[in-house]
Amino acid sequence: MFNSLDTLLIKVASRCNLDCSYCYVYQGQDQNWIDQPKRISTETIDSICKSIDQVTTFQNKGFAVVLHGGEPLLLGSVKLEEILSKLRIVLPNYEKYPIAIQTNGILLNDEIIEICSHYKTSISVSLDGVKKSNDIARFTHDGQSSFQKVINGIDKLIAHPDKDFLFSGTLSVIQPTTSPIENYEYLKSIGSKSIDVLLQDGNHTYLPKNKENFESLEYGTWLGELLEHYLNDSNPVPIRFFDDLIKIILGGNPDKEGKGENFYGILVIETNGDIRKNDTLRATFNGADYFENSPNINVPNALLDILRSNEYKEASKIQKPTCEECIKCEINFICGGGMPLSRWSKEKNFDNPSIYCQDHKHYIYKLLDLMEIK
Ligand code: SF4
Repeated sequence: MFNSLDTLLIKVASRCNLDCSYCYVYQGQDQNWIDQPKRISTETIDSICKSIDQVTTFQNKGFAVVLHGGEPLLLGSVKLEEILSKLRIVLPNYEKYPIAIQTNGILLNDEIIEICSHYKTSISVSLDGVKKSNDIARFTHDGQSSFQKVINGIDKLIAHPDKDFLFSGTLSVIQPTTSPIENYEYLKSIGSKSIDVLLQDGNHTYLPKNKENFESLEYGTWLGELLEHYLNDSNPVPIRFFDDLIKIILGGNPDKEGKGENFYGILVIETNGDIRKNDTLRATFNGADYFENSPNINVPNALLDILRSNEYKEASKIQKPTCEECIKCEINFICGGGMPLSRWSKEKNFDNPSIYCQDHKHYIYKLLDLMEIK
């Protein structure tokens, strides 16, 4: 049986030019990145494109390709053009097969932006809000603020005539000690078209930063405040985190995993070609995102074999919570137990509610109230 693919995340560079304190890749449990080639090779790019071509003949539904890292722009402009041009040969329909780059924005320059425009590749920039929010965790390797360098990159992006397509928005990790409204208004003011927020990685064994315990509401309060401001904003910029919840409540489907009851097929390709499960699982234990027998894209049919495998199907099932508390929970169909990595504990594996359970309840019930759904 063929299990569908929704997102293929390609790690084109395994190092980063920043040293963010919350990074799941470099500060997480899995330190495998040290053994990965710094950049993806031409051989691996060719194998990926060949495999993608095969997938499109088996799967009618489109899927997204995301260039990720480390910092993907460490790939350099020549190699970036190589991978994007080859990807667009096998994926010419850019609406059915969106290609995106998730970058810290520092290496954005006119040449790179032009290449992205030419190959219809959108750019999302990681920025946690105003300078004082961004300066909590996003440091350079010598411990300095990365803020102005990121803003310089965004300025170049919004100066491009194709900016409406190119700059897809910003991705901010929540810093619960900051003002969500100040961050949101700032990101709007710099031209972010979509403001996505992410809960910090953490679980029952490794508590998220600034979360005191299972009952505490630091993140829920922050999100609740942002939600109220967002719904009262007469000129809002979409916040996917909330829009996905609203879609589910209104009977639709979210765009991303971690909410609701839908399964998302996500695979990751490492710079050496290894095929992995969703790499956010690395915030749990070393090896959490490995498939058995370490499949590699450079082996003929490896991607198709994984998509047909039981292991891939089982890996998607982890998205659904299994603990009694979630199963009995009246908002499970909205919350979906949150991201699997936040349900993990050393003792009970993924058989727990999310460490963010009370936070999820706080902003979801607030949303239901604001939507006057009881
Ligand atoms: S709110 Fe808590 S109990 Fe309910 S589904 Fe989410 S994590 Fe599970």
